[in-house]
Amino acid sequence: MDRVYNVLDQGFVRLDGALADDLSVVNAARVSFGNRKDLMDESDVGLVKYLMRERHGTPFEHNSFRFHVKCPMFVAREWFRHRISSFNERSGRYSKLEAEFYIPNAEDVRTQVGKPGAYTFEPHDNPEGLRLVLGEVAMDAWQAYEYLLEQGYAKELARCVLPVNIYTEFYWTVNARSMMNFLSLRLHETAQLEIRRYAEAVSLFFSQEMPITYAAWIANERVAP
Ligand SMILES: Cc1cc2nc3c(=O)[nH]c(=O)nc-3n(C[C@H](O)[C@H](O)[C@H](O)COP(=O)(O)OP(=O)(O)OC[C@H]3O[C@@H](n4cnc5c(N)ncnc54)[C@H](O)[C@@H]3O)c2cc1C
Repeated sequence: MDRVYNVLDQGFVRLDGALADDLSVVNAARVSFGNRKDLMDESDVGLVKYLMRERHGTPFEHNSFRFHVKCPMFVAREWFRHRISSFNERSGRYSKLEAEFYIPNAEDVRTQVGKPGAYTFEPHDNPEGLRLVLGEVAMDAWQAYEYLLEQGYAKELARCVLPVNIYTEFYWTVNARSMMNFLSLRLHETAQLEIRRYAEAVSLFFSQEMPITYAAWIANERVAP
């Protein structure tokens, strides 16, 4: 199984490890009656659907997904708002950052139409204008960063010149219940396109590791239990 999905121009989501299956949901629920199964059967599929539909959420917490993610800093900032999970990120204080900056593909360059709370995003008629400016700013910022480092300034200060489209990387550990909450919010059309792309990669791993839970979540209109 491919355990890495490339996302955006230089990012990825890699499943670093998972202790996750549908049986863990079933057994967490069945322990109420002192029961345990070694194999899923049709009644267990029905049980997962029931738990999802009735929003009995805790049986979906007995599992763990550990992801390694590389994404632009502004995406990471949105991601880190999901408190019911664990993060460790590369430090710009201790290591020199890489000259890797997100430049959207031309077809992803958009304009914002409408009012706050009801924006739609339409293709911009001059995508190269944005791509050009982002590229120039990244180059200038990187030169300033290297200059400051050469002058002996601390990395933690030199990084202040870098823009939020620089790539960062982190580990993210999360259980399926919290991941479904993340996916409900970040796959939604109101979420920013860039984090949506990452959420799509996360949801592919979810569907592979816990297919019955994933199917029940989709059937429940992606409402997290
Ligand atoms: C489209 C979109 C736009 C957004 N815009 C903004 C914005 O403009 N400004 C902004 O600041 N944020 C914004 N956010 C971030 C948003 O407010 C949440 O911080 C983020 O989506 C994490 O969601 P969460 O709290 O459900 O996740 P988690 O932090 O993972 O929490 C999961 C669940 O645990 C429970 N929980 C966690 N902590 C608490 C607590 N302290 N008290 C009670 N229950 C708790 C809640 O049920 C919560 O849903 C936006 C998010 C989206 C998807």
